[in-house]
Amino acid sequence: MNGKEKHQQPGFFTIDVEDYYHIIGVSGTPNISEWDSLVPRVEPGFYKLLELLTERQIKATFFFLGYIAKRFPNLVQEAFSLGHEIASHGMYHQEVRYQSSGAFLSDAKDSKALLEDISGTKILGWRSAGFSVNQNTPWFFDKLLEAGYSYDSSIVPNRLGHKRLFAADAAPSFVSTSNGKIFEFPIGVADLGFLQVGMFGGGYLRFFPLDSIERMAKKTLKTRPLLIYIHPREMDPGHPKLSMNLFRYFKSYINMTSVPSKLDILLKITDYRTLGDYYAEQYSEQN
Ligand SMILES: [Zn+2]
Repeated sequence: MNGKEKHQQPGFFTIDVEDYYHIIGVSGTPNISEWDSLVPRVEPGFYKLLELLTERQIKATFFFLGYIAKRFPNLVQEAFSLGHEIASHGMYHQEVRYQSSGAFLSDAKDSKALLEDISGTKILGWRSAGFSVNQNTPWFFDKLLEAGYSYDSSIVPNRLGHKRLFAADAAPSFVSTSNGKIFEFPIGVADLGFLQVGMFGGGYLRFFPLDSIERMAKKTLKTRPLLIYIHPREMDPGHPKLSMNLFRYFKSYINMTSVPSKLDILLKITDYRTLGDYYAEQYSEQN
């Protein structure tokens, strides 16, 4: 039942390391100027994830928010010393669609330099806050390349109602830009008829029942890698909750306690690799 099928695609376990007060676009989200005065709650969920990965001998990619890395450099160092990949989630969780290209470039550069300084290793990967890259940010990939990144993992292939940056495939691939090529790891989606639906991360992972997730994950793995994303708060159901309308509350906090059992299944069905390792292999095949 839980056996890994031969010759199937790998999984990618990705973690956006941020705190409970970094949820975007709700009434209770505090301003950056207030962050320092809040009691942090990132550690319990972070350590549960680290423990789970050690237990399963899985290497993950940790997209650290620069602000968290500054406040807790030890978390970056601990993840790195256990063989996990460190990548950037930007300095202050700003949505790219509201940033100028110049502000985005500084954000991408500053967070990369900070994480390289703390970890002592080169940072290859970037993930934007809140899936906020779209047609209003046509410079996105150019600026990422200019900042020195090799890959991105921000694009959601299924956003039918949103302006998309490009006709993203659901499988990871190189994207050509005027500055050269960059590699894209799209956010994981399940194929449901002609629709592609998020199922393997955040609120979606909490919302859908375990058997659907398992079935769709296995189906995905027959044709492309499976990308999972999660936040430390999802492993820490007791974390403080922000005030927000009922719909967002439901979306942000539903089924929190179902996460460990879902991860338990997902982590069994294939072999996991870091995004950086997969990228390096694809890069050498191209060159
Ligand atoms: Zn985030």
